[in-house]
Amino acid sequence: METNTSFSEIVAKIVTSNKIVIHRHANPDPDALGSQAGLAEAIKNSFPNKQVRLVGSSVGDLTWINQPEEVPDDFYDDALVIVTDTADTPRISDARFDKGNYLIKIDHHPNDDAYGDLYYVNTDASSCSEMIVDLINASEGQLKLDTEAARVLYAGIIGDTGRFLYNATTQHTFNVAAQLVGFGFDHSEVSQNLNEISLNQAKLQSVVYDQLQFDGDGAAHIMITLDMLQKLGVADDQVNSVVSTPGRLREVLLWSIYVEKEDGTYRVHFRSKGPIINGIAKAHHGGGHPLASGGKAVDQTEINQIVSEMKTAGAAYSMGQ
Ligand code: MN
Ligand code: MN
Repeated sequence: METNTSFSEIVAKIVTSNKIVIHRHANPDPDALGSQAGLAEAIKNSFPNKQVRLVGSSVGDLTWINQPEEVPDDFYDDALVIVTDTADTPRISDARFDKGNYLIKIDHHPNDDAYGDLYYVNTDASSCSEMIVDLINASEGQLKLDTEAARVLYAGIIGDTGRFLYNATTQHTFNVAAQLVGFGFDHSEVSQNLNEISLNQAKLQSVVYDQLQFDGDGAAHIMITLDMLQKLGVADDQVNSVVSTPGRLREVLLWSIYVEKEDGTYRVHFRSKGPIINGIAKAHHGGGHPLASGGKAVDQTEINQIVSEMKTAGAAYSMGQ
């Protein structure tokens, strides 16, 4: 836990603000959208006279969680800005996040960039959506959940935990999920929405299984080129659906995925079932959670370097077991 504030201070700030804009990260996942929309919905439900807006770039296939709103620049005058699920300022979607009169960060990634007048970071939380439920529960009835808030927050939790698969899932996570399911939304439909992929995404999955490179010591990697994406008709923001795919293989302990970008560099996804990999991500223009991080590689030389570092981490982990 790293914080310079308390949930009650954040609630007090919300209570005294008439205009509130909520931001999240670019390339949003269900947790970014769920924490953003869940907080907005709880505020609107509890304070119908407040003006609450959601901003951010395209949400891809996730329009069933929330859709960004057009917000004019002058809305930011005297507005409270809250950013959810976003570790550092370059990742915040919509650069106007600093145009309000007060800025609050609520997040569960390591607090390498402690931006905001107030920040509340809990790296033990499974998801930022879980933290939003904690914030609402700590508000002594000032913020109230409703069925829609519960639905999107549940989507965020099952998104970040891989439907309770990953080890960041705790007893508290299940308690929060049970509280949300109690609101009576169709939780099975939420899970189906997250489970379904397009036929083209399924073909990309088969490419991942077919072309995955095994590097030894449990490490594996794959390159996803622009050419592959074009041939399959898969948009760049739909690649997220294969990031966890190598982890389904018993032989794979940790893996990295290199997604070619238009400028010739690569977005790198780091994942692990045990070895800590966020140090490697940090050394390559990124960072994130201990077992799920992102970074960048400028060229093939840097890719080779990362592949070798992942293999070393796999070997060190296996030695220690
Ligand atoms: Mn996220
Ligand atoms: Mn998250």
